[in-house]
Amino acid sequence: MRTQLAGFIRDTAQGDEAQEILQRCVHCGFCLATCPTYQVLGDELDSPRGRIYLIKQMLEGGPVTARTREHLDRCLTCHACETTCPSGVDYGHLLDIGRQEALARAPRSAPATALRAMLRETLARPASFRRVLQIGRLAAPLLPRALRAKLPQAAVDGWPAPRHARKMQVLAGCVQPAMRPGINVAAARVLDAIGISLVALDGLCCGALRFHMDDAEGGRADAAQLAQRALAEGHEAFVMTASGCGAFVRDYAHLLPDDPAAVALADRTRDIAEVLLREKESLLTLIAGRAAGRSLAWHSPCTLQHWQGIKGSVEQLLEEAGYQLTPVPDGHLCCGSAGAYSLLQPRLAGELRRRKLDALQSGSPSGIASANIGCITHLAGDTDLPVRHWIEWLADCLPA
Ligand code: SF4
Ligand code: SF4
Repeated sequence: MRTQLAGFIRDTAQGDEAQEILQRCVHCGFCLATCPTYQVLGDELDSPRGRIYLIKQMLEGGPVTARTREHLDRCLTCHACETTCPSGVDYGHLLDIGRQEALARAPRSAPATALRAMLRETLARPASFRRVLQIGRLAAPLLPRALRAKLPQAAVDGWPAPRHARKMQVLAGCVQPAMRPGINVAAARVLDAIGISLVALDGLCCGALRFHMDDAEGGRADAAQLAQRALAEGHEAFVMTASGCGAFVRDYAHLLPDDPAAVALADRTRDIAEVLLREKESLLTLIAGRAAGRSLAWHSPCTLQHWQGIKGSVEQLLEEAGYQLTPVPDGHLCCGSAGAYSLLQPRLAGELRRRKLDALQSGSPSGIASANIGCITHLAGDTDLPVRHWIEWLADCLPA
């Protein structure tokens, strides 16, 4: 796509990056078929190709309105379009540039700005988020099911004491340990059973929440702080049990290319599925076949399958444990959770959840497994099936 960048961005690092990405797009439109917002809304401007045009026009000096910003806001950043694109268009990084520009030239209203600031400062601070959830638990009987599903699980015991020479670190993160503390406990139990102690890094956010809610600099600051703290402790690997955080940390080299700690941490980061696949032989001696007769539907988060390109690993581990995975049509499509998207775009997020749950439940499973806290609580808001992280389902198979 030929592009004539306007003077305000020409010959800048962002301009060069945008130009490089834009020129790869050949307008073929293959990406439209896998874009969830285009499937629901049917408007080209809510498709990847339409958003690429909007960003191109903006960077060429064209007008920017609140409508431009809204079309970009409605993107889930699911990256399904990147997986589909035959030309290798790096849509996600182009969208980051486009959103910053749209926000600068068509600012949000004061209430919308305040809402995002409030969400950022609540969700990205583990201590304040825990306080909000504790208040929510008191009101639980009065809340609708969708909100009750977002309330925290009670504290879970059972994290094994560090007793092995091999040690890995896990990001506790901001949202997950407050809402579902059992996920990291399950990861620690599974790793402990195969000779690896898991140590939690508490009290820090990876930066994704701020970065994706209008505060790119705040997100970078969170990332730099996390990288310093994590590297200082020097464990064998930095393990992720929330695929959303994992995808963001693995992109630190792009986010903070001049920060050696951030670049090194990105390199050391592994999803828990990758860690366990490498240790599969010792794991299988403990769990092979122990879940025989139980069925699950697997929902692979976009941040696992499209951002990190991890496909088939979780399925393999669950099947080796004996779970029967039921067929799930359109497994590449987003469930509508997408960070704070379900709070900011509730209509679209609700429709995508309805479609996703229909697909997940079509094979009559006895439960649903996923890999990201946002997807898990979003899906749990509208189904009676248990929705858990896959590592929790796997930990059920450990010998007592
Ligand atoms: S990231 Fe997802 S929602 Fe956004 S344009 Fe691409 S496919 Fe559509
Ligand atoms: S599939 Fe790729 S090249 Fe084709 S329109 Fe979409 S982004 Fe452009």
